[in-house]
Amino acid sequence: EISITGVGKAFDGRKVLEGVTADIHAAEFVSVLGPSGCGKSTLLRLIAGLIPFEEGAILVNGEVVTAPSAAMGFVFQTSNLLPWLNVRDNLLLGINLDAGAQRLDEAALAELVETLGLTGFEASYPHQLSGGMRHRVAIGQALARNPQILLMDEPFGALDALTRDRLNMELLRLWQRDRKTVVLVTHSISEAVLLSDRVLVMSERPGTIIEDVRIDLPRPRDPSVTREDPAFGDY
Ligand code: ATP
Ligand code: MG
Repeated sequence: EISITGVGKAFDGRKVLEGVTADIHAAEFVSVLGPSGCGKSTLLRLIAGLIPFEEGAILVNGEVVTAPSAAMGFVFQTSNLLPWLNVRDNLLLGINLDAGAQRLDEAALAELVETLGLTGFEASYPHQLSGGMRHRVAIGQALARNPQILLMDEPFGALDALTRDRLNMELLRLWQRDRKTVVLVTHSISEAVLLSDRVLVMSERPGTIIEDVRIDLPRPRDPSVTREDPAFGDY
């Protein structure tokens, strides 16, 4: 549960966000749309506790976030992999850095690599991959840690349509299975409508939420979610 109240943020005296208020409930899938420069990435960084802000409050599960926490996973707009680690080690980076994180067994790792379309590239280094592949590793880094809250900043922008569709389905599956809270920044209205419970629309100068739209459309059915799954009721 993420509670954002009257948040304002300025960079070098220039107001970027003003009066941003939204409540994102546990297990909700929320997309954020808005023109380039309106402050979407900034808002996500504030939620993640990556940068300070001057006005308002953000509570995650009732607590003020002052530093990045293991409960939250973040996919950045531009991927930053460690060049001296191969795909496998980059994927496991977050888990290995966090003593409290759940380990990922070999089968689960192989499944993740397959989902990302990176089978056969486990031992490759970032400079040996295409830009899209590097980006998929970065998405995998966040998924591998299996955080309860997933903050994604245009994670699929640089990918081809097929990969994008596959990762969209995977995201939907994760969300349905594990009841994750997802905040997805995207420039694709169709993606937002396809995936989300709610779409927040931002305007710029300074950035604020001007629309909060509930989406009541049936979502694509994941064949691996069965009638017995609690998520089935959502269809
Ligand atoms: P896009 O869709 O292009 O990714 P965005 O909505 O994510 O845009 P932000 O990256 O949040 O926009 O940037 C919002 C505004 O804040 C921009 O005007 C940008 O120049 C400014 N800004 C962002 N980060 C910083 C920073 N670290 N220092 C100064 N200004 C910044
Ligand atoms: Mg951005």
